Amino acid sequence: MKETPSELRIHNNMKAGYLTVEGFLGKDDRHFHDIIREDHAVLQKISISAVQLAERMEYFTGKAFEIYDGAIIIDEKFRVEYKSYRGKIICPFAHPGVFRKGEIFFKNLENGIELCWTPLNIHMIAEHGFFEGKGSKHRLDPVILKQALFGNGDL
Ligand SMILES: [Zn+2]
Repeated sequence: MKETPSELRIHNNMKAGYLTVEGFLGKDDRHFHDIIREDHAVLQKISISAVQLAERMEYFTGKAFEIYDGAIIIDEKFRVEYKSYRGKIICPFAHPGVFRKGEIFFKNLENGIELCWTPLNIHMIAEHGFFEGKGSKHRLDPVILKQALFGNGDL
């Protein structure tokens, strides 16, 4: 597929060493369009939208951010801790605006699933349906993410 100049810019932004040391693609050879499309198909299969996942992540992130220092237990079964780092980061899709650098460490105490995400992850999931490439530091598998955020439910 021939990339337009703006797509090429996005693609470059996602590579290691551009916006972040690790980049957003990991060891994934697929084009970011294909990563988004394939994750979208998974979301349809498990009956949840990227926005629903992102809203749930935002809910936990907001609570953890209020505490700022140390972990908190939310709704009796989720442990969340926000770690703040200096600096800001921009979206690789070249949006205006910046995102806090920080990581949210999340554990579902019922099923034991532990995840880590960033404020930028939430934005990329909500706005772009992008969960990062496989092997990327902050790749979030949609199936695991749903299990972590909502419990095992009907999976
Ligand atoms: Zn964006």
